[in-house]
Amino acid sequence: MSHRPDETEVVWSLPMRVRFRGIDVREGVLLRGADGGWGEWSPFLDYDAPTSEPWLRCAEEAVRGDWPAPVRDRVPVNVTIPAVDPERAAELVRARPGFRTAKVKVAEPGQTLADDEARVAAVRDALGPDGAVRIDVNGGWSVDEAVRAIAVLDRAAGGLEYVEQPCASVEDLAAVRRRVEVPIAADESIRRASDPYRVRELEAADVAVIKVQPLGGVAACLRIAEDIGLPVVVSSALETSVGLAAGVALAAALPELPYACGLGTTSLLDGDVVADPLLPVDGALPVRRPVPDPDLLVAHRAAPEREAIWRARLAEVRAVRQDRRP
Ligand SMILES: [Mg+2]
Repeated sequence: MSHRPDETEVVWSLPMRVRFRGIDVREGVLLRGADGGWGEWSPFLDYDAPTSEPWLRCAEEAVRGDWPAPVRDRVPVNVTIPAVDPERAAELVRARPGFRTAKVKVAEPGQTLADDEARVAAVRDALGPDGAVRIDVNGGWSVDEAVRAIAVLDRAAGGLEYVEQPCASVEDLAAVRRRVEVPIAADESIRRASDPYRVRELEAADVAVIKVQPLGGVAACLRIAEDIGLPVVVSSALETSVGLAAGVALAAALPELPYACGLGTTSLLDGDVVADPLLPVDGALPVRRPVPDPDLLVAHRAAPEREAIWRARLAEVRAVRQDRRP
């Protein structure tokens, strides 16, 4: 279990500090090119080979290193407040003084709208009147529930920046958008390359939350952003700093970046593969590209049985590609 300097694929495994998306360990593969460039391939374990293929294109683009030139040198990011009680929510905001945007999780199963209302009000109070408060529903409401809850939470926030994925389906997003004034952001509705166009076609959102790995890389996402003509919020897929750097590269290259991005996520992992992780400073990430540290690659290397699973996944995705060739 050591890292050889000539290795071109290293499987890593890192515990999550907080259970997220039902997982408590995050894994992936770091790919290295002949020129020494690194990229991350870390599709979630429940994703099949065709779904995981654009993730590989993103990693390969990173390995080649041909990212577009940045137009800014820092990327503002939001702090995320989980569905905790109001006192804890306020504490979490105060613990990150440089952040000007807070994303508050709402509609947690087992909680009430009053719980959300108290949390949102506490976050606004802690953030001050100039900060932006957005909520993330993760598709948890029906259309009618969304219309009612958005009115209540918009009032509690003294104005919401936007509501992320109030309902599960893109049709329902469109229906909600027609009934409320608060801007609607599509997140889970954008998972494959064709999804942003469907969001646009149904006029289902005012903002598109975009992740570089599922959509095939930085250049592909820049094209999508231009095509759909919606403001983009670049978000992570819980990558190490190597994978996150691709998201930062996209956010840095977008002609307009009106909203804080969801890229301040390295702290969700208990460790990193680089010695200088992409951590926010004063609420923004510096635009840079850290490289893996040989000792950390050894320290966070996956166990042999996990490594075998990832190598098999990688082979499967490459086989899917072969099949597609005419
Ligand atoms: Mg979301």
